[in-house]
Order: sequence, then structure tokens, then C-alpha cells
Amino acid sequence: MSGNERLEGIGMTSRRTRQRMLERLQAKGFSDVRVLAAMDQIPRHIFVDEALSSRAYEDDALPIGHSQTISQPQVVAVMTSLVIGDGVPPDNVLEIGTGSGYQAAVLSRLVEKVHTVERIEPLVRLARERFFELRLRNVQCKLADGSLGWPENGPFDAIIVTAGNDHVPDPLFAQLADGGRLVAPLGPDGEQKLTVVMREGDTFTATQMNDVRFVPLLKGTQS
Ligand code: SAH
Repeated sequence: MSGNERLEGIGMTSRRTRQRMLERLQAKGFSDVRVLAAMDQIPRHIFVDEALSSRAYEDDALPIGHSQTISQPQVVAVMTSLVIGDGVPPDNVLEIGTGSGYQAAVLSRLVEKVHTVERIEPLVRLARERFFELRLRNVQCKLADGSLGWPENGPFDAIIVTAGNDHVPDPLFAQLADGGRLVAPLGPDGEQKLTVVMREGDTFTATQMNDVRFVPLLKGTQS
């Protein structure tokens, strides 16, 4: 299969199948057309193992190895919409938990720059290959403990955390720009709520949204 055929997909990995996924999201009430257009541009089947690619357009989380998962399309849609907000989209975005790279890829179609941090080395390598294959030149990925953020590239207009924790690590608050927003699954295991934190000066205001289930935010890196 040529690189182009792989990207375009066929049958269960075709653009038509992807569009049906988007129609199902809309049927469930998701209506942010900017996010739907971005998700139409990014072939999700490239972000899962070939053996699972026929399931890439179902609304499910899927395993990506190393006990990690690619988030459910509906969760990616909702989080992306919260990250870009209602007005002018943020310029510089930080993601903690690259995983497959899918969430970063979708965001890259909507904002100027995406910086994404992952603690598992093989996942970083695979995600970089996918960004390269899709020519997503505004995404940078590094291996690190994302609890520390990415201070050299901050401050960030928006930060998205895609691993669950009971609190936001302090360095992330410090790297959030004034007027910026942070989206994270927060709460004890099994009771996480998607939470949006807005920063105005030194005031941080949190709003809780729907229940979600993410793999845990862990310390350190792993090769
Ligand atoms: N956004 C991903 C899905 C996230 S799965 C996607 O679109 O596919 C959560 C990811 O967070 C996992 O890959 C896990 O290894 C990573 N992770 C957990 N703790 C982390 C930390 N402290 N720093 C960076 N990445 C972390």
C-alpha cells in the first residue's frame, strides 16, 4: 500500500466512514463546525495499530499499547471545542499526554502551534512519525514528565491535559497565559469531571463539566 492509499483509507477507513462518525457526533448534539471540519481532515485510522484500524471510526477509546488509550472521538470533540473557546482561537497550545497524537493533530488544524508532551518514549516516536506523515508542521512533541509543562515554550494561551489527576500540577498554572484556559479531567479515580479553568490575572476560576474516564497522570518518563 502506498503512503497515499494508507492516508486516504478504504472501506472502514475511508473518508466516508469518517464522515459518518462526524454525523453521529452531530446526532448526539455536538455542533461546533470548526472542530467537525478539523476532525474531517485528520484520518483517525493512522493513529491506531493497523489491526484496529477498521474500528477507528467507532465512537470508542481504543488501546494504543503500554496500557494507554486513544480517547473516544466524542471526548476529543468536546475537549477541542472547550480548548479553542467561542472567540478567537488560542495561538499557542500545550497538551499533556500525547498518546497516539490524535488530539494534538486535530488541534493543529485550529490553532497556530501545538506543543505536546508524553512520558512514554515509544509513543513519542510513533506520534512524531504520524505528524510527519500528515505534514503537520506546527506540532512539536517531546518526551518528558508533563507535570512540569514545557516552560521554554510558554506561556500558553490554552493547556489541555489528557490524563486524569486529582489536581492540576502547579507548573501548568504558572505557564498558563493571562486570559488563558486549561481543560483537564480532574477528580479521584472513577469520578473524574472534565474541568475548565480560566485565568484572569492571578485569579483562576474552575467550571466542572461532564464525567469522563482517563488513564492516570503518572510521574517520570519510561523508555
Ligand atoms: N491525547 C491522547 C490520549 C491520551 S492517553 C490521544 O489523542 O491519543 C493519556 C496519555 O498521557 C498516555 O499516553 C500517557 O502515557 C500520558 N501521560 C500520563 N502521565 C503523563 C505525564 N506526567 N506526562 C506526559 N504524559 C503523560
